[in-house]
Amino acid sequence: MRAIAVTPSAKKVCIIDQPEPNISSPTDVKLRMIEAGVCGTDREICAFEYGTPPAGSEELVIGHESLGEVVEVGAKVTRVKVGDLVVPMVRRPCPHDYCPACRSGRQDFCFTGDFTERGIKQRHGFMAQFVVDDEQYMNPVPNEMRDVAVLVEPLTIAEKALIQVWDVQRRLPWTCPVIPGKAQANCHRAVVLGAGPVGLLGAMALVMNDFDTYVYAREPIPNPKATVLEMIGAKYRSAETHSLESLAAEVGNIDLVYEATGASRLAFDMAKYLGTNGIFIFTGVPGRKGPVEVDTDLMMRNLVLKNQVIFGTVNAGRDAFEASIRDVGIFSKRWPEAVSSLITGRFPMDSYQDLLVGRSRGIKNVIQLN
Ligand SMILES: [Zn+2]
Ligand SMILES: [Zn+2]
Repeated sequence: MRAIAVTPSAKKVCIIDQPEPNISSPTDVKLRMIEAGVCGTDREICAFEYGTPPAGSEELVIGHESLGEVVEVGAKVTRVKVGDLVVPMVRRPCPHDYCPACRSGRQDFCFTGDFTERGIKQRHGFMAQFVVDDEQYMNPVPNEMRDVAVLVEPLTIAEKALIQVWDVQRRLPWTCPVIPGKAQANCHRAVVLGAGPVGLLGAMALVMNDFDTYVYAREPIPNPKATVLEMIGAKYRSAETHSLESLAAEVGNIDLVYEATGASRLAFDMAKYLGTNGIFIFTGVPGRKGPVEVDTDLMMRNLVLKNQVIFGTVNAGRDAFEASIRDVGIFSKRWPEAVSSLITGRFPMDSYQDLLVGRSRGIKNVIQLN
């Protein structure tokens, strides 16, 4: 079968020929892969910034945002059946008995760092024609979501963040008045930094919860991302025409910031404007570009005097995958045009060079695998 792989030792990205994987345990599931999304992580792996092949292999098959169809199941599989569409999870547990996270199926909170990740760290990914894995990592998706299910994995970032937001904010009286037809965050205001796929999907999740949602990003209007945000009722503010200060003045008390750029300078500048009882979520992974100046006195004063919380979040557990499947379904019923315009192109496997190492363009590009 064909698969898209990097060879870090030779700094090569190419299509390789691999033996088709076979079911080897009674709980294994075999998937015929339909498509995989391309994201910044894949592009960074293809620039050899990270990405580790499995032990004994020079090559790493990449891809972690995917959709597959079950074509074969082991004798003891109960979670899925042949013909089901599934989105597989990405991270696999570390082997250590003393890691309570991995031992309870929460490898997204692995303590040891010895987890593996399909398509990223020591395990082949999903940009291949077939994949075999244990049923516990499979998330079934309704058939009518076939065209949009590739967005499930990238939305899990926001879903895991929101699960934690509700948990953390439960420590204070943060609940909004119950208003018929309005969701639970109807009294709160959120700012999203960045309008890439993570930012746009995060904005959709926030709007769905009735946060008054602003997205702050570089490009001037008009642009396709601002158009998507307008369709869903979020407000786009460009850094070219709005300072963070004017954004903060417009929003009022900023209850939540969802950082989705990986730009640490911008994020720490924004943190100054986080409101009373506010929560700030980091999702980006910046490259190390050297220190920048931060007003630590102001930041510490705000954290203390305004009861603020800052947290980072990575990867996702089953709860976030299930929430994501539910919400991609809701988004595509509520905003069909906005959701379909997130997927800016579907390309054959042979276009991998252009998509993975060429100039980044569009919003979410997808590689068809079969
Ligand atoms: Zn990704
Ligand atoms: Zn672990």
